[in-house]
Amino acid sequence: MHNQFINTHKIINIGDQSWQKADNNGLLNIAVQHGQAPFLQCENGHEFINMCSCSYLGLDVHPKIVQGAISAMEKHGTLLISTSRLRIHLSYIEEVESVLSDLVQAKSITTLSCGSASSGILPVLASGHLTGGIQPLMIFDKNCHFSMNHIKPVCGDETQVLTCAHNDVDFIESQCQKGGPVVYVADGAYSMGGHTPIKELLELQEKYGLYLYFDDSHSFSVIGETGAGFVRSHMDEVSERTIIVASLGKAFGATGGIVMMNEKTNLKLIERFGGPMGWSQSINVAAMGAIMASAEIHKSPELGQLQNKLRQNIKLFDNTINTVNADTPLPIRVVPIPSPEHAIECSKFIFDHGFYSSAVFFPIIARGTAGLRVMPRADLEAKDIERFNQVLNMAREQTFKGR
Ligand SMILES: *Cc1c(COP(=O)(O)O)cnc(C)c1O
Repeated sequence: MHNQFINTHKIINIGDQSWQKADNNGLLNIAVQHGQAPFLQCENGHEFINMCSCSYLGLDVHPKIVQGAISAMEKHGTLLISTSRLRIHLSYIEEVESVLSDLVQAKSITTLSCGSASSGILPVLASGHLTGGIQPLMIFDKNCHFSMNHIKPVCGDETQVLTCAHNDVDFIESQCQKGGPVVYVADGAYSMGGHTPIKELLELQEKYGLYLYFDDSHSFSVIGETGAGFVRSHMDEVSERTIIVASLGKAFGATGGIVMMNEKTNLKLIERFGGPMGWSQSINVAAMGAIMASAEIHKSPELGQLQNKLRQNIKLFDNTINTVNADTPLPIRVVPIPSPEHAIECSKFIFDHGFYSSAVFFPIIARGTAGLRVMPRADLEAKDIERFNQVLNMAREQTFKGR
């Protein structure tokens, strides 16, 4: 039987029309250079501010991080030992991982990307070898990021896999009550706004031994005293039944992924059987240098200052533009727009007026819905946010005029 867990054929049939429209409107594959901060500059000279950057703290252009990458390359004289890290690796990677572990107060390893961490770890979880030797029931949240969803069929070939409604704690509890091991797979902070009901889930872990797998890419660096993220900030320690992954290519301002776990988690199994985690590429030396430099920033007062600036800018946006997630400290907002066509029109208007806000539609969000995705950042000034809010409102008025 086909398409039990994913239906790429159908997704393309429905979703590609909208992508093509966005493409036709010049909203995809925009080639740029960095202009005077915070502007990006197109080849034809058009300048705009990217309102969809996941570099929420502006660290992607931090001189210390750029220099960290350069210095590490000069010192080690290579980008990569092209051998599975499981067999041979630069000792530098251990230094980097020890710094990260210290930063987030949990045993941590780096991965090529957050997506490759999930591709590697989820099948190992499905095998039952991390859940007491019994293949668990795996419940994926309906709004799980693509990077986890596309591993569903792999997990589903190994064990029972279910998809639950978004944040459906009651459903998860009802499955826990059946007695076998249950793994819940979810985002910590969701790509389209909002977050996981972490307190309730930790209660289920306490009560039933629920295993939790979180991808907290969108809150890493943004939340927590040292930037360990939304989920990590809600627990004293990462328990033996919890694994948290996150991208180091978003607010952290470097590249690669991080996996946070308990000292007792069977890391050896993950290293040996975690697919892309043990192939010939590990995180490269430039990335490691960038991570070390970013970790320094995360340990300094600069992190708190940037987090505060981000929160102020989020507030400035929320004060003018009302969205469902306006009450969260997380930076992602989706402004609802009635159809993909309207969203693309709005996005085009906004781009012409000096900002980029991405039109989102199926399969990024539910079929039949559309919107504009907006992410305020720490490296924008109040005047930038205020101007963006004006342009966004103009775009909405313009698009709906006479309809
Ligand atoms: C961006 C993102 C990823 C991908 O991160 P990479 O490090 O590029 O693989 C994975 N999960 C979520 C929730 C994301 O937002």
